[in-house]
Amino acid sequence: MGRMIRAISENGGVVLFAVDSADIVREAERIHQTSAVTSAALGRLMTGAVLMSAVLKRDEDNVTLRMEGGGPAGLLLAVANGKNQVKGYVENPVVELPLRADGKLDVGGAVGRAGTLSVVKDLGLKEPYVGQIPLVSGEVAEDITAYYATSEQIPTVCALGVLVNPDLTIAAAGGYLLQLLPGAADSEIVRLEQNIAAMPSVTKMLSEGMGLEEIMNRAMDGFDPHVLDESRAAYVCDCSAERTERALLSLGRQELENLAEQGEDLEVCCQFCDKKYHFAPGALLVQLK
Ligand SMILES: [Zn+2]
Repeated sequence: MGRMIRAISENGGVVLFAVDSADIVREAERIHQTSAVTSAALGRLMTGAVLMSAVLKRDEDNVTLRMEGGGPAGLLLAVANGKNQVKGYVENPVVELPLRADGKLDVGGAVGRAGTLSVVKDLGLKEPYVGQIPLVSGEVAEDITAYYATSEQIPTVCALGVLVNPDLTIAAAGGYLLQLLPGAADSEIVRLEQNIAAMPSVTKMLSEGMGLEEIMNRAMDGFDPHVLDESRAAYVCDCSAERTERALLSLGRQELENLAEQGEDLEVCCQFCDKKYHFAPGALLVQLK
């Protein structure tokens, strides 16, 4: 289980969401058998999605992050709902790249930089909210920061980190989103910038045993922050036989008839949890009548 906190400054002008997502990234690594750099890329994207889910009002609301940068990892997806449950998918889970000059995993190289980050928020309205930006670096946190600045006009600092052990297990993972509400004074912005510039990386803080409250106190130093609430965050896939069947029915009669003629059962594998579902095309056709 991951742990997430929501915090606010004494004057109400600065909010922070922080999460320890190590268990979430461990589950993603277990399901998708990711290499080190794809664990980091998918882990950061899922951590970003679960942080963005902190403001969802209803359990069934959800936010989908879709990153396509043209790199060897291919498409990356993360979906988080109002219960802070998140699931993720990476098209090519095994990507091997040399470390960057600074010794870090080359997430931007795996994701690629020639593409987009799309954010789809389904809030139960008639149409989902969709925002899309060109990727800044493919390093994920910078791209999410740019998304907030461009699409939502909310000054935001996003920091994400995944530390992978040499044996590919996940040593630490987490992140935070710090946002300024409208009406902030210039002096407050300067102070926050100073705080953030002085912060160690997320992986350094978490692997040295810093808790989420300590991260909050450093990021919001001078703003008398307090924790509003805390919640659990976890890797959960909400797929079901019913939803899979609906997706198959949406293929339409012609396609299902073609499949029925081949005489074999359909096996559908969930891209988020690898669960397999079996259907007989003939039985599906009966339902279309
Ligand atoms: Zn599933």
